[in-house]
Amino acid sequence: MAQEKETRAFEAEVSQVLRLMIHAMYSNKEVFLRELVSNASDAIDKLRFEALADASLRADQNEPVITLTLDKEARTLTIADNGIGMSREEVTRSIGTIASSGTREFLERLSGDQKADANLIGQFGVGFYSAFIVAERVVLTTRRAGSQEAVRWESTGEGDYTLEAAEKEGAGTEIVLHLREDEDEFLEPLRVETVIRRYSDHISFPIMLVEKVEQGDTQESDETRQLNQASALWTRPSSEISEEDYTEFYRHVARAFDEPLTRVHITVEGRLKFTLLLFVPSARPFDLTMGGQERTGGVKLYVKRVFIMDEAEVFLPRYLRFVRGVVDSDDLPLNVSRELLQDNRVVRSMRQTAVKKVLEALEELSADAEKYATFWKAFGPILKEGVIEDADRREQVAALARFASTGTEGAEQTLSLAQYIERMRPGQDAIYYVTADSYEAALASPHLEIFKARGVEVLVLTDAVDEWLVNHLNEYEGRALRSVARGALDLESLGESDDAASEEDPESKDEEGSEEDASSQEAPAPWLGEVGELLGERVREVRLSNRLTDSPSCLVREEWEIGERMRRILEQAGESVPSSAPILELNEHHPLVARLISESDDERRRRFAELLLDQARLAEGGQLEAPALFVRRLNDLLLELLSEDPTEA
Ligand code: ADP
Repeated sequence: MAQEKETRAFEAEVSQVLRLMIHAMYSNKEVFLRELVSNASDAIDKLRFEALADASLRADQNEPVITLTLDKEARTLTIADNGIGMSREEVTRSIGTIASSGTREFLERLSGDQKADANLIGQFGVGFYSAFIVAERVVLTTRRAGSQEAVRWESTGEGDYTLEAAEKEGAGTEIVLHLREDEDEFLEPLRVETVIRRYSDHISFPIMLVEKVEQGDTQESDETRQLNQASALWTRPSSEISEEDYTEFYRHVARAFDEPLTRVHITVEGRLKFTLLLFVPSARPFDLTMGGQERTGGVKLYVKRVFIMDEAEVFLPRYLRFVRGVVDSDDLPLNVSRELLQDNRVVRSMRQTAVKKVLEALEELSADAEKYATFWKAFGPILKEGVIEDADRREQVAALARFASTGTEGAEQTLSLAQYIERMRPGQDAIYYVTADSYEAALASPHLEIFKARGVEVLVLTDAVDEWLVNHLNEYEGRALRSVARGALDLESLGESDDAASEEDPESKDEEGSEEDASSQEAPAPWLGEVGELLGERVREVRLSNRLTDSPSCLVREEWEIGERMRRILEQAGESVPSSAPILELNEHHPLVARLISESDDERRRRFAELLLDQARLAEGGQLEAPALFVRRLNDLLLELLSEDPTEA
């Protein structure tokens, strides 16, 4: 029966957190107040919201208030709210098990090192459980709005807790902390007031402090005063909000513990009236991209200061889903539903403003290289989705993107497209990129050889999303984006780069651009056709390369074709990709190719050709149909060379 007193064990993970709360020594004990007040505020929000739709709850709705009562005699600190409360079943579910993502992340970050872990508690707080930082016993009495039954939960935080039916006036939750021996500081009104002002000043509801006065001979009554301003933070002018207040507010709405990097705080008053207070976090929230159940957005919707819903994803596009904060509209109806938000004029207008302002804030942030690098590391791949999804703002989002290149220091993505264009060689008209699984793999690509020789910078794209990005961003500021591995290539007009000029490149000395002639204009040498025939359907064409200076061969695709890496990504995702044979480009100045040309034995010639094809495929990270065959052919050839006249080799 639900009425009986029962004892239950905490879930193992909860016990682990509780043990830390009880035993760890750390400096930031006061965070427990922030956590409990934050829960109380959420509970009041929830009641206000549920009462909008369910008239029966209105009887339980009083002037919202959070009360902190200090009782020196009993050595208790009590936190009470008149919010939604919890049913018995909800108490078990919410407090006996770990539900909140913050707690999970906390657990994942635990190191086992007492000191470091204690610091983590300071940052995270870890919700309700942090009561046990200062309390040796916690008694929680709660009544769900709309229900007459209250329930009492009690625990010392060690192993188990009890549940029993209780009496409680009014809906809401009351948490009595029986303080540990040396935690008397939290019975001092000034101390508590300082903590509340520091962490909870942004809470929209009044936080009252009640000092129990000992009822001796003098019949004094309890002293009560209000600790906070109790107006929704976003309704205050930003000039009156301190950085600390903003940060604590961000932490409260985002359930995060980092410092936001930048924010947008504006109130629009015109045809429509609304306020946006949006933050860009500095750390990637743990639940941003969890497989399958990815969060769609971190924006809370308020209507006329009343909380309506979490994760109101319609106010920002998906590629800004890392943004956290609140939007508050005066024009939407209080009973607005998710469905109603979908196609709504008010929402559209708010969204326009929100996107515009967030992108502007990011642009501003980009002036600070260090902060922007933090942002880009955490959210770069997500923001890049905007280039793909947001056709109207494609160039604007692309301008915010940062890339690694052959000219950046390592794989760090720091280069903007504008910077790339500034650094282009005279006469260079395209933005070149190479895609690969890693920066190192890209740099070793044979496709880059001629770019190195000509001193042309190449963007190195290694995020999966990049394949789509280059598909959608055909040009930037009038410059085409071109893959180094596609189409015909003509860097001839650029000439040698200064530092590569000393390297011999026989072709570039010929007059009238012999590269072009060799590959396309003059009739191709007959041996190319013969090699093509030997390789059959595996290649579409065999031609001389403008790309290679060191390697004998590489594979090239047409401008309109799917690249090799994109094909692999799609195939891994289980999609079938129509296959088309690539073009094999050969470097006729390479001794192996020279040997292939001069080889008179047909069988040997075929093996040479196949080796060059397989090599090219391996070099671009592709898979061989028969790797063992490649190894055998290579070894056969090496053995033959070994047995040949040593003076010839
Ligand atoms: P979090 O608040 O991050 O979800 P907590 O451990 O602080 O994690 O709380 C767990 C859950 O317990 C809350 O999500 C809420 O459902 C419930 N809860 C906590 N405090 C209250 C309260 N004062 N009133 C109603 N429900 C509460």
